[in-house]
Amino acid sequence: MDFKLTEREELLRKSVRDFAEKEITPKIEAMEETGEFPLDLLKPMAKLGITGIIAPREYDGIGLGYLARTIVLEEVARVSAAVAMGMQVHHMAIAALSDFGTEEQKKKYLPPLAKGETMGCVAITEPSGGSDVLGMQSKAELKGDTWILNGRKCFITNSHTSAYWVVLAKTADGPKGLTAFIVPKDAPGAKAGRVEHKFGLRGSNTGELVLDNCQVPKDNLLGQEGGGLAVALKTVSESGRTGMAATALGTLQACYEEAAKFANERVLYGKPIGTLQAISFYMAEIYTELDICRLLCYRASWMKDQNLRFDTESAMAKYYTCDAAARCAKQAIEIHGAYGILQEYKVQRLLRDAMVTISAGGTGEIGKVVVGRAALAPFKKKA
Ligand SMILES: Cc1cc2nc3c(=O)[nH]c(=O)nc-3n(C[C@H](O)[C@H](O)[C@H](O)COP(=O)(O)OP(=O)(O)OC[C@H]3O[C@@H](n4cnc5c(N)ncnc54)[C@H](O)[C@@H]3O)c2cc1C
Repeated sequence: MDFKLTEREELLRKSVRDFAEKEITPKIEAMEETGEFPLDLLKPMAKLGITGIIAPREYDGIGLGYLARTIVLEEVARVSAAVAMGMQVHHMAIAALSDFGTEEQKKKYLPPLAKGETMGCVAITEPSGGSDVLGMQSKAELKGDTWILNGRKCFITNSHTSAYWVVLAKTADGPKGLTAFIVPKDAPGAKAGRVEHKFGLRGSNTGELVLDNCQVPKDNLLGQEGGGLAVALKTVSESGRTGMAATALGTLQACYEEAAKFANERVLYGKPIGTLQAISFYMAEIYTELDICRLLCYRASWMKDQNLRFDTESAMAKYYTCDAAARCAKQAIEIHGAYGILQEYKVQRLLRDAMVTISAGGTGEIGKVVVGRAALAPFKKKA
């Protein structure tokens, strides 16, 4: 077993860390105020390979794989979980197109996404409930050579910043009745609706997509007609959960750093508070959670790179890391005493960001449903 990252992965980490500290930090105040994604970061992020990290090389991507992507997202999220969130969903759109697109579709849509010319999104959730994918109401009907889509998607990351939407809709009833489509934002009848104002991950754009007799050509079907559930499950499980986990991991790393710095700097009774046993125990817990989460996140992405099945591991990494980031952010605030609740201290933002990662990309309960199933399977009595 080898826990050492390659020299290339370490270099990638360093270059993304330097970039995030220098270029993303100055944008945070505006992101917190407006909630808007800083689109001017797309080009410099593309230069570093962040936008196209998992896009195949033949379509202008970097093709470095999922472990490299986790490292990149972790470093971006260490500075801004909101920017990491935008990128992780952008990667989900790239993954869906790479996995299920035809050669024509890949040639058309992957290069502009990989090069950061625009963003992509994946629209599954509807007001009828995100966990109940089969309960979605959006419908698609083929009329001649055109698909007509009707419905409303909500809580969609990059809803207003994406030129290309991967949209799930019903073409029939039941699990074989879901179908995925590529909807360009300027397709007739396609409209980005309201923007959500979140208390955390401010700066990642979240909103509605409205499909009102939206027309897309027959060729914009992604995968097979009736194969939409497979598109949703693979995309959410592989790129979605690992991406959310990596976003929470970067937040957790930031919690650790803020807590450790404060515990060493704040002096009470003539000594840094880190020398108090209670504070050092908090630090031990945060430090251990960080290690557990990093191992879970790296293992899941490494398994993807090895072409191993990893749905249980990605669900474990996602639900555990998002929860741990919120727990540790709370502890980091407690270590700060009253300072922790002040706007100018980063820890309050880390708690808000960590909380928002919990339901995004599938709730903690749904993650546990997946892991619970795997935990019970080996001892299940045969009927
Ligand atoms: C910041 C953010 C970004 C998002 N980005 C996207 C995106 O880009 N694309 C997209 O399609 N969606 C996106 N979502 C939506 C997200 O995937 C859903 O919020 C999530 O799937 C849960 O759906 P829901 O909010 O409708 O909750 P519901 O499904 O209504 O769930 C409500 C509660 O019931 C629990 N529950 C539901 N089913 C079960 C079960 N079987 N067992 C136990 N408990 C259960 C849930 O865990 C939750 O606690 C985003 C959400 C957020 C917050």
